[in-house]
Amino acid sequence: MHPDDHLPHPPPNGFDLPRRLRRLADLAYNLWWTWHAESSRIFRYIDADTWELTEHNPVRFLRLVPSERLRAATNSRWLLEFYDRVVRAFDDYMGDAPAAWYPRTHPDRMNQPIAYFSTEFGLHESLPIYAGGLGILSGDHLKEASDLGMPLVAVGFLYPQGYFKQRLNDDGWQEARYASLAYTDLPVHPVFDASGGPLTLTVDLPGRPLHARLWRIQVGRVPLFLLDSDVDGNSPADRTLTSRLYTSDLELRISQEILLGIGGVRALRALGYNPAVWHMNEGHSAFLVLERARELVAAGRPYAEAMARVRASSLFTTHTPVPAGNDEFPLWLVDKYFSGFWPQLGLERESFVDLARRKEPWGETFSMPVLAIRNAERINGVSELHGQVARRMWSFLWPKLPAEQAPIGHITNGVHTGTWLARRLWLLFDRYFEPDWHEHLDDPRTWEAIERIPDAELWAVRRHLKRKLVAYMRERARRQWIGTRVHPVQVIAGGVLLDPYALTIGFARRFATYKRASLILRDVDRLLRLVNRPGMPVQVIFAGKAHPADEPGKLLIQEVYRQVKRAETGGRLVFLEDYDINLARYLVQGVDVWLNTPRRPNEASGTSGQKAALNGALNLSVLDGWWPEGYNGRNGWAIGDESEAADPAARDAADAESLYRRLEDEIIPLYYLERSADGLPAEWLGMVKESMRTLGPRFSMRRMLRQYVDTMYLPALPDPDPIKA
Ligand SMILES: *Cc1c(COP(=O)(O)O)cnc(C)c1O
Repeated sequence: MHPDDHLPHPPPNGFDLPRRLRRLADLAYNLWWTWHAESSRIFRYIDADTWELTEHNPVRFLRLVPSERLRAATNSRWLLEFYDRVVRAFDDYMGDAPAAWYPRTHPDRMNQPIAYFSTEFGLHESLPIYAGGLGILSGDHLKEASDLGMPLVAVGFLYPQGYFKQRLNDDGWQEARYASLAYTDLPVHPVFDASGGPLTLTVDLPGRPLHARLWRIQVGRVPLFLLDSDVDGNSPADRTLTSRLYTSDLELRISQEILLGIGGVRALRALGYNPAVWHMNEGHSAFLVLERARELVAAGRPYAEAMARVRASSLFTTHTPVPAGNDEFPLWLVDKYFSGFWPQLGLERESFVDLARRKEPWGETFSMPVLAIRNAERINGVSELHGQVARRMWSFLWPKLPAEQAPIGHITNGVHTGTWLARRLWLLFDRYFEPDWHEHLDDPRTWEAIERIPDAELWAVRRHLKRKLVAYMRERARRQWIGTRVHPVQVIAGGVLLDPYALTIGFARRFATYKRASLILRDVDRLLRLVNRPGMPVQVIFAGKAHPADEPGKLLIQEVYRQVKRAETGGRLVFLEDYDINLARYLVQGVDVWLNTPRRPNEASGTSGQKAALNGALNLSVLDGWWPEGYNGRNGWAIGDESEAADPAARDAADAESLYRRLEDEIIPLYYLERSADGLPAEWLGMVKESMRTLGPRFSMRRMLRQYVDTMYLPALPDPDPIKA
């Protein structure tokens, strides 16, 4: 590999920086700072207003920061010292790759790159190329691969319009707004070819070629290449092909997925990569197996041998436990888009369709997960429970095997500690944990040290984080009140009446109906009695977007919002618009209880509760996704039991009852009544420590990625070449 061949120097923006601060440009163009909370403060220290104004986007920040602020910085001794420390930490990180875990333990594997494909990457709020959990997982995967020093290269899309910004109208109806991203405002490098022009690649669409160019994002030591069809030579319609995430138009979607799967392989080839393992994160990229087989057939291999080789080096992670959520195409569309392709594999139409055939009640389809499953040697779900569900769901692909023996395993998701852990907690751990604690994030012994933290100090940080959340909400509401014509009730619904010292419950996630956002509102009067209890109030903060085409999801938001706006709530029920990574960080760090109410077993894993646990919030969750593995009876609460009632209405009623009882009988008394002589909720804090100690290591991205390495990546790698190694 040659990681720097495609990097233009200097970066595309010619910032006008004082010499003494010129390395700020390097910091801005590598996402390393996004998971080093202390270091990232350099931008805030230089100019907090511009930092907020630019939504924490350092590239934009450096373009807009007034030169007198930069000059003032060069005159501040402590700031220059801080800057030097940050630059040194960055250079150490980038220069110290050989000392990282992967090169140390698998030095002979460093020339066997791992390709990682995903439609979305949630890396930072200033880069809105993600929609939700799948993207956050991909983003965290790259950051951890960087930390571990892995030779991983990632492929995705640069959507110039990104994912939408959410606003609710007066009546709680979600409105979607798309803003166009300016490339010059993003930490992206255009990729050039040898002649200095944009490096482009081409795939075939019906009756025309589709061209795409590439952008590179540097995620620490890991490169992420993003496809973009907005280039000269494409028709105006094709130029907007990759402008947004998750269109519901089938032709657009199949075209996007052809570009990702087939174009993505061609992109890596054009860049000079020869990956040894190909990881499809969800089925959207599954066309890559076809392109890789085509390459081998074109090089003279018989089809069967080609496909066997492709299969041996392909991995597939499925995330979707509901059949309707899976990506599939009607056969007429496959004919239209692939009739020129299957002859190149030496296949007839029927045998081509067999690669991904799925019989649905309404007819046959070409299923992307089936394509991935049939042609990947290793397949996993994302929690133990989801593994079981996936085996059952796809068992028809192995008619000779009992369902539970279907060859689908599981690796439970985790979260990237540096990205999600509050800076204040990081500093607290620095004081009480072993000095190299962050080198051993997934080691339960590291987290035993949580017991050394005095209750008063942990409580002080927890209170600080909640105050910060409330202050942030007030500031957002104030800006909304000043800037737009909102109804005053909407300002109250935005959280201005929240109490920074009251027990606070957070519910933030995509508004898909199976997540049952309104479960806690099922008996509103019962909830309001808790919310308004004198001396021990409870507040609930909701946030989340519905997919723009998901009408039931939008209705659910509206249902919640109508309750939130009622005067009887006393302003203690809140809906925060435009859930994104920034808001997620405030919420998972600031609330006391993280609520999760999916209809079991529909949540494949869920990761927001893991982020909350890391920061000392307690989970109150249905035993779905990751929670049956995390919950031990002392580190949070379960809603309902592990049965799967056939009747959804009965299930909802039982789960709501269980939820209210947990609140009334356990959570509220534990928080308010069990105070020790010094006023601390000692038992609550005991539970917080139990939660951080038991969940912190297990649900870290470090544990997750090392499991991928040991059980998925390494076994798929061919023997290392003894000469090159
Ligand atoms: C973590 C996260 C998610 C995923 O959370 P779930 O638990 O899967 O609902 C979605 N969106 C954002 C912005 C996140 O930070």
